Amino acid sequence: NSSLAKMLIVFTVSGGGLVAYSDANPGNQMNIVNAADSYTKKKRVVVLGTGWAGTSFLKNLKNPSYDVQVISPRNYFAFTPLLPSVTCGTVEPRSIVEPIRNIVRKKNVDVHYWEAECYKIDAENKKVYCRSSLSTNPNETEEIVVDYDYLVISVGARVNTFNIPGVAENCHFLKEIEDAQRIRRTIVDCFERASLPNLSDEERKKILHFVVVGGGPTGVEFAAELHDFVNEDLVKLYPKLKDSVQITLLEAMDHILNMFDKRITAFAEEKFQRDGINLKTGAMVINVSDKEISTKEGKNGRSISTIPYGMVVWSTGIGTRPVIMDFMRQIGQTNRRVLATDEWLRVDGCDDIYALGDCATINQRKVTEDIWAIFNKADADNSGTLTVKEFQEVLDDVCERYPQVGLYLKNKKMHTLVDLLKDSKGDTVKESVVIDLEEFKLAFSQVDSQMKNLPATAQVAAQQGSYLADCFNRMEKCEENPEGPIRFRGEGRHRFHPFRYKHFGQFAPLGGEQTAAQLPGDWVSIGHSTQWLWYSVYASKLVSWRTRALVISDWGRRFIFGRDSSCI
Ligand code: FAD
Repeated sequence: NSSLAKMLIVFTVSGGGLVAYSDANPGNQMNIVNAADSYTKKKRVVVLGTGWAGTSFLKNLKNPSYDVQVISPRNYFAFTPLLPSVTCGTVEPRSIVEPIRNIVRKKNVDVHYWEAECYKIDAENKKVYCRSSLSTNPNETEEIVVDYDYLVISVGARVNTFNIPGVAENCHFLKEIEDAQRIRRTIVDCFERASLPNLSDEERKKILHFVVVGGGPTGVEFAAELHDFVNEDLVKLYPKLKDSVQITLLEAMDHILNMFDKRITAFAEEKFQRDGINLKTGAMVINVSDKEISTKEGKNGRSISTIPYGMVVWSTGIGTRPVIMDFMRQIGQTNRRVLATDEWLRVDGCDDIYALGDCATINQRKVTEDIWAIFNKADADNSGTLTVKEFQEVLDDVCERYPQVGLYLKNKKMHTLVDLLKDSKGDTVKESVVIDLEEFKLAFSQVDSQMKNLPATAQVAAQQGSYLADCFNRMEKCEENPEGPIRFRGEGRHRFHPFRYKHFGQFAPLGGEQTAAQLPGDWVSIGHSTQWLWYSVYASKLVSWRTRALVISDWGRRFIFGRDSSCI
């Protein structure tokens, strides 16, 4: 019979010590503050970050037996899908943020928030080192060192400049609320500057040339939003500048919205052409000076063109935060883009550290290695032979433990391999089945290359946060009964189900009250009715009734009065 690799993961708990004191930080005066006022016997969970993953974890954590310490430089949660709307004043910045203290206030769980940034994770001693800029003396930084029993890392990602010269210095990014506010001010500034006297037509055109780099959902949505802002509001206020405005969208690949269905890509490209948005695909940015942006185009990247601009928005993807890079070096995960976790979101090799959201990914290689181990063990246990029935058991086990793999195998119709074997070889021909097990292994090796990492989206981050909170909610029950549900007894399985991602679809707003949506089952919907679906889904996903009311009233205000173009 097939026996299974033991997969019991034990949650160890270190002593409940509260605070350690920092080492010296040369060059900076330093205050060291206690991370908590009183000693508590509760196990301490430290959460880094108040974004999608961290907030979802905090919202769903209901178990009062933890002392939760939240550390983030941002004392609010920001609803990032509406950030592009903030850049053009469709929605006000305050409407999409909710103070984190508001979110955790009503809970019966002990939650403390510290406005600070973690700069070092010491996994060996179970401490995080943080720095707060909120010192009463501007020449000092507060250093906070916090012990943890469990650490939840959800610090997200930073923008990725790919080290292209001039990007960091000259481009706008669209990642934080402040970025969106800065973009909004710069757009209006450009129009005011272009209205000044004594400018040539050429200078005016340069000032009013808005370049967006990156044809992903964020870049496309921003370009569409900007087009609407200019054509619905700004041209009424600056009628003389109407013909001088140009919006260019640069994309290095052959098409925009590559992760969407081809129908959506084609519709978006045609719509942008009709709207007069200058779409340049196959254009790779190589340099950005304070006045011009240079791109390499054409086959072999031979032709180089230089475009003068008034504002560039860089939206090309995400990179790793320094604190994560440092942590990855510490635990031997170098040469990776993000932290690798197992399917229970536990950082590989660190028992009590979890990583969720944009800063982490489930290590698919580890998953496939585990599956190989299951096959090899099953193989060895049966002296190199397996009956079809035994093979089916192994396969079922793999599918149950690794639902994402199970889904993949199902899609590839690999289950039918067993049926085929049954038909041709009969149920008991051991030798032939073993040969086909090898065949199966060969086919399965594709999983390594084809099983994709989960996308870096709010949907994934929020689901991971609520999954982990659910594990913490049930932790004690599971400790009382470590072998889990009766059907798992004696198998040594993990007490929790692995994380399963449910994809609910993706939107791409295209401007002019039109949106494209790719829903589960590759169902595609494009147009005005989808825009209403977008309004209802996003209104329902907002984190509180307060933000919901504010956003809906912002949408109403925009319908009636248009967008606000004051430069404040
Ligand atoms: P974040 O939400 O980025 O949160 C990270 C948190 O960590 C923040 O609170 C930050 O202040 C804090 N932090 C940072 N450094 C430290 C540190 N050193 N110590 C402690 N705390 C730290 N996804 C969708 O699914 N749908 C969309 O429509 C969509 N639209 C988007 C539009 C824009 C403009 C952007 C930028 C992103 C969009 N996304 C969307 C992606 C989505 O926002 C991210 O995938 C999601 O925010 C990831 O969540 P997270 O919790 O990992 O990180």
